[in-house]
Amino acid sequence: MHTKKIGTKLFQVELETGGFKNLICSYVIKANKIMLVESGPTSSVPNLISGLEELDIPFEDVQYVAITHIHLDHGGGVGTLLNFLPNAKVIVHPRGMPHLINPDRLWMSAQGVLGFVSEIFGKPEPVPKERIIPAAEGTFDLGEGAKMKIIETLGHASHNLSYQEPFNGGVFPGDAAGTYFPEFNVVVPTTPPPFHLETALTSLDKLISLQPTSLYYSHFGKATDAVQRLKDYKIQLQLWASITTQGVKENWSLEQIRNKIMVEDEVMGRVAGFVSAHRIYSKTVLENCIRGFIEYIKQKQLS
Ligand SMILES: [Zn+2]
Repeated sequence: MHTKKIGTKLFQVELETGGFKNLICSYVIKANKIMLVESGPTSSVPNLISGLEELDIPFEDVQYVAITHIHLDHGGGVGTLLNFLPNAKVIVHPRGMPHLINPDRLWMSAQGVLGFVSEIFGKPEPVPKERIIPAAEGTFDLGEGAKMKIIETLGHASHNLSYQEPFNGGVFPGDAAGTYFPEFNVVVPTTPPPFHLETALTSLDKLISLQPTSLYYSHFGKATDAVQRLKDYKIQLQLWASITTQGVKENWSLEQIRNKIMVEDEVMGRVAGFVSAHRIYSKTVLENCIRGFIEYIKQKQLS
């Protein structure tokens, strides 16, 4: 079984990308019009497809695939997925659209940044232009008066969207609200370069103002206490920023900054062993997310 009901008309699909559980999931909104949120990477599209089969969803009934952003772990598989869903259109931020039509640059930069992890995710296939709906704000009709709200939540990326569903009031933040580790009930930053702190904090305020009931993390799963979690995440980003600012000023290495974060951020203290032993998280979270802060702070000093 790949699927789990997590709310009214709402299902989570465990993508088990590369055989890793609790790493990446997609969501299915089984409304009058069926919408998926996140395709996940190319390599785990077969698991998403078998999830749809488990939910008895005819492929031709899927109308929308909403992706929060184009990074390989969220939207990388959407071109492959559309081969199975003849009537579905992709919702993406306008700045992400060119990279869906021609994913070559995205794939090259992912290989550079993620290394072996990009191979685990798989190469994205192009999406035909006529199957893309660019959107940054507004609503999408799910039938019978139900509307999915789109919220532009930049900072993690210059093209991250969040979505709020009408049936339970929960929000899909993509990577705007961190990575949730359900095993530990904690959230850690998702801040790879080019990360923009002020914009990320503004996006979190936008999400808080929606008063969501739950957060549906792409990494990984549904979490309650949504507003408190978003507020805590803001504080955590500010803590990382102040440590990195000191580190950059005093010429610390990335490792020294990381060690300081591990000591000062009690959340990281709780997951440190798990994250550093995890083949994917040790690379994506510990290295790239700290580098995102370092680059942001260096750039801010230059400007
Ligand atoms: Zn991600």
